[in-house]
Amino acid sequence: MTTAYTPALFIGHGSPENVVLDNTFTQSLRQLGQQLAKPRAILMISAHWLSRGSYLTTAPKPKQVFDFYGFPDALYQVHYQPSTDAGVIADILAVGDIIPITADDDAEFDHGMWTVLKHLFPAADVPVVQLSIDSSLNRQQHFALAKKLQSLRTMGIMVIGSGNIVHNLGQLDWHNRHGAFDWAVRFDEQIKTALMTGDVDFITQARTAMTSDGRLSVPTEDHYWPLLYVEGVRQPSDQLEWIYEGYEYGSISLRSYLLRS
Ligand code: ZN
Repeated sequence: MTTAYTPALFIGHGSPENVVLDNTFTQSLRQLGQQLAKPRAILMISAHWLSRGSYLTTAPKPKQVFDFYGFPDALYQVHYQPSTDAGVIADILAVGDIIPITADDDAEFDHGMWTVLKHLFPAADVPVVQLSIDSSLNRQQHFALAKKLQSLRTMGIMVIGSGNIVHNLGQLDWHNRHGAFDWAVRFDEQIKTALMTGDVDFITQARTAMTSDGRLSVPTEDHYWPLLYVEGVRQPSDQLEWIYEGYEYGSISLRSYLLRS
């Protein structure tokens, strides 16, 4: 009997404003959400929850935090507040016998989670549990930690990483809404190739950040790390399907994909 794996997703979330926009990116998320069977729960790893050590949202209904500034009022009116799930939390904390994960009843849902799930599962009727990203770990350590989460995919839990492969806020070009700098395209394409060929070394090794394209595309690791969690739970039986390929403001890649067995 073959093991059934719940799909895993990496979403390049881009600007928070996407939560209220109807564009090709948000349409692709909505279409995908309609295709996917509703999982038992979602384990979200977002670029916007960094911590020292690993924490888990364990309140029955964590607060929704509006962790961005200077955007139109409409963004602050968006409501998205799913429940967690005690059984799912227990399953994740059981994995924590090998990874120390601390329950955090005060932890909130950040916009890396809700700007994406608002499109994928708009009714907020799928329980969501969020795992923080331990910023003291390097890429290889994140990847190793993520591998220990693989079994969650056999428990009906959809692992979603929400970040961006290319994310350089210092280089944003406000006149280039849907375009990209050459260096951003080159790095995004290099990672695309590595994802397609399963070149884990390229994705996890520091050498991806050693090139000038890599240094410009990943000036800080926070938005890159969620990718390592999705690759960490990848199975040999998974097919990779692109959900979206595109750019925002010159220096952000929206590349998003699905792993489905
Ligand atoms: Zn972000």
